[in-house]
Amino acid sequence: MSASDLHPNLQPMFEEVLRRNPGESEFHQAVFELIHSLTPIAGKQPEYIKWSILNRICEPERQIIFRVPWIDDSGAVHINRGFRVQFNSALGPFKGGLRFHPSVNLSIIKFLGFEQTFKNALTGMPIGGGKGGSDFDPKGRSDAEIMRFCQSFMTELYRHVGEYRDVPAGDIGVGGREIGFLFGQYKRITGHYESGVFTGKGLTWGGSQVRTEATGYGVTFFAEEMLRVKGESFDGKRVLVSGSGNVAIYAVEKVAQLGGTVVAVSDSDGVVLDEKGIDLDLLKEVKEVRRERLTEYAAARGGSARHTAGGSIWDIPCDVALPCATQNELDESGAIALVANGVRLVAEGANMPTTPEAIRVLQDAKVLYAPGKASNAGGVATSALEMQQNASRDSWDFESTEARLQQIMSDIHGRCVEAADEYGDPGNYVMGANVAAYTKVADAMVALGLI
Ligand code: NDP
Repeated sequence: MSASDLHPNLQPMFEEVLRRNPGESEFHQAVFELIHSLTPIAGKQPEYIKWSILNRICEPERQIIFRVPWIDDSGAVHINRGFRVQFNSALGPFKGGLRFHPSVNLSIIKFLGFEQTFKNALTGMPIGGGKGGSDFDPKGRSDAEIMRFCQSFMTELYRHVGEYRDVPAGDIGVGGREIGFLFGQYKRITGHYESGVFTGKGLTWGGSQVRTEATGYGVTFFAEEMLRVKGESFDGKRVLVSGSGNVAIYAVEKVAQLGGTVVAVSDSDGVVLDEKGIDLDLLKEVKEVRRERLTEYAAARGGSARHTAGGSIWDIPCDVALPCATQNELDESGAIALVANGVRLVAEGANMPTTPEAIRVLQDAKVLYAPGKASNAGGVATSALEMQQNASRDSWDFESTEARLQQIMSDIHGRCVEAADEYGDPGNYVMGANVAAYTKVADAMVALGLI
């Protein structure tokens, strides 16, 4: 991943990003992937890669970093760091989740906000891109501690968000419980009930059907479209889903509904292999209700499930792999193992889970590969449906909302395929997604003038 790997017209732009953002390796990786995909444009439509567009797109509109003090149950004081990067609002209000995880830093939030901008453009909905979070670790914290942290976080963030300004949602470590505490504090400080300021809300207080399921269902619908192009389906396929959080659980559910068998899931401690197929009810009980580790799943499941501490899920033979945990979880050795065991399709549920080296291995082996900005866009797309329902004081039923999601994923798939065909590399979902999204954002930025 160096500037010399890029088209000569694109090299100065990437060098400038490296110079201005030192040490931000995840952000560099995300920018490199996008710029690399613009190679066909650099030859055909050089007006799109002018300094005034490409460099502006790589510079967030606004970056907010703030102190988050809070007190734990024993009375001890903790200081965390909060972030909100408002990356690009050419297509609509900033939109993107909040991540609470000890690894969070500015580089990670910027890479996520950058990716979000293009993902949101691909959905075809009027939303810009942003991302935020904190290096707070929610693991093992009581509900009261989580609430105090969320209230402190929101006491600063409230002034930067709003229905027409910036609309956060969940991500790693931020689910329905956290959104409730954050939204509650916003309502308390501002004194009005502005449902459209958050998405991922509970169903009884402004949330949308299918939002919880949307990212996991969406990546599975996208993979189904990829299989359909090849005349195949999920029926009878053996599937790996990494992670065991929100995205992973609902990918497991939808794969099973479509006739596939998920044989393994993981968390940051290890992997569970369950040859009979993951027991969804048990997985939900352990992870969503009891908030326990996968070792508890294996213990409760008995004979058919085996937990391996620290193991790599990618060593397990499969037809389809859905990385749904975190960034850079699928590296070159993981991709080599997947290819050696005959994988045919990899679609990302997580954001940037596959390293550039691993992507090369998959593409060289002609494995169908979809980048997260296309395949995991179902979450934010359903968030935009939640915003629509809030704006019209309406709520839709599960079936019609799921049908909308499925149609949106099919449309995103179509946009990727069309752009890849048009720019001369059929089947290259990375190039297709990046070119389709970039040109859409760039057109809007040009139309709005130099701002
Ligand atoms: P959750 O916090 O619900 O779950 C994350 C899961 O990943 C947990 O099971 C966690 O395990 C596991 N995990 C974290 N790090 C590792 C690791 N190094 N190896 C293996 N497993 C790991 O988050 P989400 O499911 O919401 O998000 C997952 C990914 O999907 C993220 O990349 C996120 O940005 C992306 N995404 C999420 C969307 C959403 O709607 N939620 C939308 C679009 C993308 P443990 O409990 O041990 O930490």
